[in-house]
Amino acid sequence: MTEYLYGKIDGIGSSLGTYAVMTMDVPWNLVKDRIGGTPASVTMITSLEHDYLDRLVKDVPRVDTVVGIGGGMACDAAKYFSGRRNCTLVLTPTIVSVNAYATPLAAVRENGIVHYQGNANPQKVIIDYKAIQSAPKRLNTAGVGDVYSCRTALFDWKFSHEKTGESYDEKVAAGSQHLLDKLLSSANEIKNVTDKGIRTLVEAHVETNRLQQEAGKPRPEEGSEHIFFYALEELTGRSFVHGEVVGTGIFVVTHFQTKEEKTVAREMDSMGLMFRPRDYGLSQTEFVDTILRMKQYSKQNKMFYSILDTIEISKQDAEELWRTISTP
Ligand SMILES: [Zn+2]
Repeated sequence: MTEYLYGKIDGIGSSLGTYAVMTMDVPWNLVKDRIGGTPASVTMITSLEHDYLDRLVKDVPRVDTVVGIGGGMACDAAKYFSGRRNCTLVLTPTIVSVNAYATPLAAVRENGIVHYQGNANPQKVIIDYKAIQSAPKRLNTAGVGDVYSCRTALFDWKFSHEKTGESYDEKVAAGSQHLLDKLLSSANEIKNVTDKGIRTLVEAHVETNRLQQEAGKPRPEEGSEHIFFYALEELTGRSFVHGEVVGTGIFVVTHFQTKEEKTVAREMDSMGLMFRPRDYGLSQTEFVDTILRMKQYSKQNKMFYSILDTIEISKQDAEELWRTISTP
């Protein structure tokens, strides 16, 4: 069982035995004078390519513990390393935009293609409020995307259960719904990235991950809103802050699911999630093209059954969505 420590990283280093740090410049500067002890090595992670990670496994000195300090990249590198070296894993996420610290899988790349692998089980996850609060707010509120997505994911899951007979777990779905309620009741704390807001978001990431494991599939948290994200990255070849684009996806598919997109926009605004295409530099053409591509993307990639399988989306629909999403 992973132990979550909420507060600060100060002095932790002296309790880890010999340890190696995997990090990046900015996060390391936030904690290096406070962590305590003396790391046997500090590696600035520059890639998640297999070859690169395997070289680290070979070159980094023998240690009791590896500590990943930073965002998804540093945490994933540390997870991979601990799996290969069979050493203790400690993670300190310094932004909570992605839930890399809460999932057992590491996103490793082979020639740029992502593979999820491993079964990392951190002994400790240290939530250092000060480091997290020093990052731009929107990078942390982006963490809302992969929890709030339970809203549209649950719709798709139930919809598929009714239409195709796919197995559906009432208890897990209720847990997912409960999580949504909890998230919204702390909206203001999350928006302002307070200690309590951070803790709520972290606990929600841990819980969504647990629910997905219990369901044996990503359904409790991942639905057609994610298809917007995948289709967009494929179409543009650019990379985006995952949670913000997932937020756009939630707005879009909610329109087709329940027409409650205005409620959804208000709720995402209340949590400070920057979900409007203009917030992250997406043009009207890219937005419209992505929406028009979603259904086909889902089919071609044999994705899970969702609302997309039962609707036709016209260019007019997509343009109308651009107008509504652009008006706060
Ligand atoms: Zn996601």
